[in-house]
Amino acid sequence: MIDAAMVTETATADPGVTERDIALAERHAAHNYHPLPVVADRAEGCWITDVEGDRYLDLLAAYSALNFGHRHPQIIAAAQAQLEKVTLVSRAFYSAEFGRFCAELAEFVGKDMVLPMNTGAEAVESGLKVARKWGYEVKGVPDGRANIITASGNFHGRTTSIISFSDDPVATAGFGPFTPGFRTVPFGDSAAVAAATDEHTVAVLLEPVQGEAGIVVPPPDYLREVRALCTQRGVLLIADEIQSGLARTGRTFACDHFGVVPDVYLLGKALGGGVVPLSAVVANSDVLGVLRPGQHGSTFGGNPLACAVGRTVIAMLRTGEYQDRAARLGDHLKVRLDRLLGHGVTEVRTLGLWAGVDIDRRVATGRQVAEALMHRKVLVKDTHLTTIRLAPPIVIEESEIDWALDQLAEVLTELG
Ligand SMILES: *Cc1c(COP(=O)(O)O)cnc(C)c1O
Repeated sequence: MIDAAMVTETATADPGVTERDIALAERHAAHNYHPLPVVADRAEGCWITDVEGDRYLDLLAAYSALNFGHRHPQIIAAAQAQLEKVTLVSRAFYSAEFGRFCAELAEFVGKDMVLPMNTGAEAVESGLKVARKWGYEVKGVPDGRANIITASGNFHGRTTSIISFSDDPVATAGFGPFTPGFRTVPFGDSAAVAAATDEHTVAVLLEPVQGEAGIVVPPPDYLREVRALCTQRGVLLIADEIQSGLARTGRTFACDHFGVVPDVYLLGKALGGGVVPLSAVVANSDVLGVLRPGQHGSTFGGNPLACAVGRTVIAMLRTGEYQDRAARLGDHLKVRLDRLLGHGVTEVRTLGLWAGVDIDRRVATGRQVAEALMHRKVLVKDTHLTTIRLAPPIVIEESEIDWALDQLAEVLTELG
């Protein structure tokens, strides 16, 4: 059971420290985020303790980078052991962890080759480069003519090429000129993908479930139809599973729910165990094999510290325990969220332990709900004005979900 005594430890720090730490950040950090005024000092499992000693239940889990919770003991032990051995050699040399990580990840995913990078955006960029090169060398597309199909409402990261196919004006305004060669069609509409495909199409890039858009699950046949189309037309299906993958939805990959195997998986976030940035492009050698020495790279990509962490994450996922837990807790979360329909909530979308909750705009904005929850020691993040996204660490207990949902219900009553 959770009560007030659990969320407030003895306040040791001076109460002005939060304001001072926030002021430092506001003065000296670029203002590319609008954080809630919580200053983390330490964290464990699902709980963050702030600089004043107050404890908060983390229902965001760093956008799914913390699927295993903060500082999971197995992951921390692996990182600490590796810190004592070797942390970085660059790809100029091999490390023992590197080959083992690549082999284990390929085997786990069901492909034969891995390109390790660091951030999610880098994995996406790398996937796009590989798809273009594959198009020219294997498919025979005339040089410079390749096109890639993407979906409306997508979020694949923040680099210049990736925002070139975003339809979010906040992400694009003021950042042109944009990279050509992309065609965006409505998400969930396989006929639109077919209509946009021509002989120069090298790839379709999709989030199987759109995370930033507010946990948007496509129609049941969509991915299977796009898969069939890609196979028939000789086009690579690239699944961005950076947020949806690695147990979040109750399966290893969101694609598994639809019985679809893409040609290329893009992984990130939880792959780094909440400790290091670690991303990867995973595919077969007929695709990833197009890269030759010097054509792509990253100084930190595949470093032994990240690989040691990644190997531990793969070992944890191999048991299936986290996938099962996300499915079971996700069912419970959905039951609790559905009870709020008509009580300040207009729509709930879930897959596994991942939920988009649309707040009735007559009641409050997503931001107002997030702030009110923060005062009750529950941390969530709003997206697209009226939606809050829940992606708790999968180690969360059912009683903690219940307590958080009680807080949400009370917040909605107060604001309503
Ligand atoms: C977060 C995210 C990315 C970008 O990952 P970064 O590590 O922030 O660069 C790409 N695709 C999806 C689906 C994401 O959720």
